Amino acid sequence: MSSFGDKGYKGLVYKVAVPSPLRRIFDYLPPASGEKIEPGTRVQINFGQRKIVGFVISQADQSGLSKNKLKPILTVIDSEPTFPDKLFRFLQWCAHYYQHPIGEVLNTATPVKLRSARALYQEVSTYHLVGSFDDSQLQALDRAPKQKTLIDFLARRKNVSKQEILDQGYSTSIINTLKHKALIECFQTHADKPEPFPPLIDPSPKALPLNQEQQLAVDKIRSGGNAFNCFLLDGVTGSGKTEVYMQIMADQLREGRQCLILVPEIGLTPQTVSRFQQRFNCPLSTLHSGMTDNERLGAWSQARDGAVGIVIGTRSAIFTPLPNPGLIIIDEEHDGSFKQQDGFRYSARDLAVMRGREENVPVILGSATPSLESLLNAQANKFTHLSLVHRAGGASDSITTVVDTANEYLESGLSEQLLFKIDQHLSANNQVLLFINRRGYAPVLSCSQCSWIAECDECVSQLTVHAQPPSIRCHHCGVAHHLPNHCPQCNSATLKTSGIGTQKLEKYLAERFSDYPVIRIDRDSTRSKRKFDVMLEQIHSGEPCILLGTQMLAKGHHFPNITLVAIVDADSGLFSPDFRGQEFMIQTLVQVSGRAGRADRPGEVVIQSRHAAHKALTQLTQSTYREIAQSLLDERREAAMPPFSQLTLVRAEGSQLRHTMDLLKRVNEYAIEIIQPSQSQIQVLGPVPAPMEKKAGRFRSHLLFKAETKSSMQQFLTQLVYQLENIKLSRGLRLSIDVDPMEMI
Ligand code: ADP
Ligand code: ZN
Ligand code: ZN
Repeated sequence: MSSFGDKGYKGLVYKVAVPSPLRRIFDYLPPASGEKIEPGTRVQINFGQRKIVGFVISQADQSGLSKNKLKPILTVIDSEPTFPDKLFRFLQWCAHYYQHPIGEVLNTATPVKLRSARALYQEVSTYHLVGSFDDSQLQALDRAPKQKTLIDFLARRKNVSKQEILDQGYSTSIINTLKHKALIECFQTHADKPEPFPPLIDPSPKALPLNQEQQLAVDKIRSGGNAFNCFLLDGVTGSGKTEVYMQIMADQLREGRQCLILVPEIGLTPQTVSRFQQRFNCPLSTLHSGMTDNERLGAWSQARDGAVGIVIGTRSAIFTPLPNPGLIIIDEEHDGSFKQQDGFRYSARDLAVMRGREENVPVILGSATPSLESLLNAQANKFTHLSLVHRAGGASDSITTVVDTANEYLESGLSEQLLFKIDQHLSANNQVLLFINRRGYAPVLSCSQCSWIAECDECVSQLTVHAQPPSIRCHHCGVAHHLPNHCPQCNSATLKTSGIGTQKLEKYLAERFSDYPVIRIDRDSTRSKRKFDVMLEQIHSGEPCILLGTQMLAKGHHFPNITLVAIVDADSGLFSPDFRGQEFMIQTLVQVSGRAGRADRPGEVVIQSRHAAHKALTQLTQSTYREIAQSLLDERREAAMPPFSQLTLVRAEGSQLRHTMDLLKRVNEYAIEIIQPSQSQIQVLGPVPAPMEKKAGRFRSHLLFKAETKSSMQQFLTQLVYQLENIKLSRGLRLSIDVDPMEMI
């Protein structure tokens, strides 16, 4: 430690984190009230010209600043920390691991309504006698009988509010006099803090008798007791993972312990919630992005007070305070929405494991298509691998065929063979699902006379044609223009669309199969929740229909009457520039395929591709997901890519490409200065313009670091980030660090 010299202040200071991109925490003097402040407590402070809310991180007995530079904490907002001790430590760990400023991490974990100086609870003051005082002090009261009788009164009672004292006929000045003489003291206590939820006596009267695989999984999880253990529940769609979750939850709810369940963003449907509500007679909170700030505060507070036994939420619910946690579940753990893609770029799945460790509770990661990261953790015995390979309730597996479309004439993207099958399944009174991962009408608008193609001015991207309303839209920045009827370059009127989106397919199917309803599910058609509910109702009615849609269909929904699932175009995923492209594609295809078939109606899956001989596709027809994942893992090991190495992506964004590249070159120089002398095994790749060089009018560049182990990456980043504080960013330039990046476009 360097000495602070003579100018430093010697005395108690609190270190306060503020919500700002600065990685520093700031010293403040204790508040005038002199009260002690626990770490994790919200305080109000003067910061620059503003009054803001910060969090006390720790205290120290000296500061590098002189006393006249130090300001006091203005008010202590709550009499207790916002986050329980373990959660607070966890949040600090998160800030460190993701190299994100602690103030912003704490802010992320705090409901918007508490980012202002609003108190957690309404508080009341109660009065008590101080622990001990000597007789001389009491004797001194002989001449003040009123004060003496108040002492006697307080000696007989506990938690007496000021109002009760006033009601007894004492005045405020008598109270203050005794306080001043240090004979009585005042505490703040909480009003109406709710009671913890009562342990469930018979938590699951509706539990199903488990099949053998489920029983084995439940037994294994139970054998770990209530301590931290991580389980990978690897079970095909419909294998009854949710039943396993619920039986383990029942164990915890019986003991009055809380269960936290994280689901993908669009997996949190009313159906998901009602499944848990119907099973458990237990108060439950949901936390998701569609809530108002007040609703969110309410749900968060109930969880924090222990008033609910079950918390179901999306990504950010991983930060929910739980006074009595018993279990953490991540459903569909492979899902990309668990990774936050901007600001504080955490992975809720990875954090669940860390939080489980900190709270010492079991963690269950469930998926039909586990991520390669989790599979490797299972192979390395860090996670216990539990397999459910059969569908519960006896549904049979489906048969997969790949249709080679290379030399076929396609009707709106559909081959003769597929059209025939659609007809067949509909005639047999079944439902059909067509998956096409492109919303809009058509992905390309071009001119037949010249080379013009509709492109976004703000992004390196083509504009998608939309039918309702007629327009061309950018799916990256959201910009929309009228659909032109003449080429802006040569003025010819021969504009044509190519490629197929959900809207074009919907139009074609509605004409061709006019006897059946066609239900399109994508981001555009489901904007209204009411409309979406109507669609889901129609599907659940079981009447024959054609269901067509994007990624949204691949997640969480159970459509038991679907017997044919078709992947209209598997090619876009085959040649992705992202090293995770194949993993994502296979996961999506397997998830979509999993929607087909049930006990009495075996399912069929059709995959159309112009590259039918591609290894990834032939594997799909011949192998299980587990086998395909293993071959992908082998490839990753060969290439030393995650999960066999650790990546960190530094992104720069600015109004000119050159500025972003220059910035990353400087970052690179700092990196080399750290890497060379320590001979650390960090590889540097770049800087290079990002694959999507321009997005929403901003230019983007990438610099990638690769390390063998998490700890060497952490060590390096800690030093790097410290150095980066020296860089003064010129206006409009932004620098961000993404530890364990998911999307690298
Ligand atoms: P997953 O979550 O693995 O996709 P679910 O838990 O949703 O699977 O189960 C699929 C279906 O099988 C549900 O309708 C569920 O009620 C049923 N199911 C699950 N376990 C059993 C069981 N042990 N016996 C009978 N039906 C079961
Ligand atoms: Zn033209
Ligand atoms: Zn755009």
